[in-house]
Amino acid sequence: MNLRLHNSLTRRVEDFVPQDPNRVTLYACGPTVYNYVHIGNARPAVVFALLARLLRRRYPGVVYARNITDVDDKINEAARQNGLPIQAITERYAAAYREDMARLGVDPPDVEPHVTTHIPQIVAMCERLIESGHAYAAENHVLFDVASYADYGHLSGRSVEDMIAGARVEVAPYKKNPADFVLWKPSGDDLPGWDSPWGRGRPGWHIECSAMSEAHLGETIDIHAGGVDLQFPHHENEIAQSTCAHGGKIFAHYWLHNGMLTLEGRKMSKSVGNTLVLHELLDLYPPEVLRFVLLKAHYRQPLDWSESALQQARATLDGWYGVLRDLAAVPAADAAVPAEFEAALFDDLNTPDAFATLAGLADAARRSAGSDQAATAKGRFAAAAGLIGLLQQDPEAWFKQTAGGAEVDAARVDTLIAERNAARAARDFARADAIRGELAAMNITIEDGAQGTRWRVGA
Ligand SMILES: [Zn+2]
Repeated sequence: MNLRLHNSLTRRVEDFVPQDPNRVTLYACGPTVYNYVHIGNARPAVVFALLARLLRRRYPGVVYARNITDVDDKINEAARQNGLPIQAITERYAAAYREDMARLGVDPPDVEPHVTTHIPQIVAMCERLIESGHAYAAENHVLFDVASYADYGHLSGRSVEDMIAGARVEVAPYKKNPADFVLWKPSGDDLPGWDSPWGRGRPGWHIECSAMSEAHLGETIDIHAGGVDLQFPHHENEIAQSTCAHGGKIFAHYWLHNGMLTLEGRKMSKSVGNTLVLHELLDLYPPEVLRFVLLKAHYRQPLDWSESALQQARATLDGWYGVLRDLAAVPAADAAVPAEFEAALFDDLNTPDAFATLAGLADAARRSAGSDQAATAKGRFAAAAGLIGLLQQDPEAWFKQTAGGAEVDAARVDTLIAERNAARAARDFARADAIRGELAAMNITIEDGAQGTRWRVGA
């Protein structure tokens, strides 16, 4: 079974063929660390870490790089407002990002390059672009000469004329062409800056990914990924810089783009003011519920974030964890990931099909209870869930966590349940009902069944 991926360059789904099966390279654009990220920023991180995981099932050497943008005008502004050096801002929010990703079950990348530790590579790439006639220095800036690269606009399907017409910013007088973009810009004494042939300055945004990708993955990489909002201008500019800096060599063979998030049907953006901060959501819902919602829709489709989607995810996970809890006494057989489940993921990460298959595996495991098929059915279900990063908790712990994923005082709940059962045995039903009420006030629901009294957080 081949991995198939939708390639934005060709606008179709293609078989993935790496340039070197022993070293498969994947680069995804990472966060700009000036604040907590919003839930939309979590989607590419979750999706492309899953892609890296799938690649590792086929290829022995996968190098996945996801950068940290730690110099940027938004960072400068956050540092100024807080009266802090930029490192204080970037270190705080890079750490928060890693922590939030870990809570979402996102595997860390193999390489996490930071822009501020790649300034010499960025300056060198600017110099090469100037020498080869693809960039020019003007008024302490370095600009990419868009007219020097005939394929500019190929990825996004835009013409240079469209881009000039759509340019929202005022055209700077030092640009030869309004579509030319900044590779390097001057920094005043109050801003972070590095010495360069063009004076003290700092990099423009796009050049960083070209330089870091080259430094860690080589001149030509297999897959470049990011949100569809980065396709233009960011990825278009990366292609122009890298291709021209490398004498026309192709930059990335496959370009993957994830769709954007909407919130209850409306575009989610900072300018609209309806973004949801991931760090806060992680305290309101079990992180696994967020992961479920982020993966359930196909990554190329828009994803509508809503309270009902979260509730449905929670209900489905309750059902699946319930299957595992019912089979707690059955050891899971050491099973391979079912072929149908893997085939869905290898078909351009078709997670809607994969989730449907997972639901079928859950049903099969549920029906197998008490039969000699139970261990195999549980093993197959667990193997599939493991590949997609779900159902990794102890099922008992799942039902005993609060909304944000923290565990409640289980010893206290167990004591109250034991007291209630003792009261029932003594036919003191008033006392038993009173304890049930006390548990309900703690948001604990109890169920009496064949396996004794079970409890869970929530209604
Ligand atoms: Zn990038």
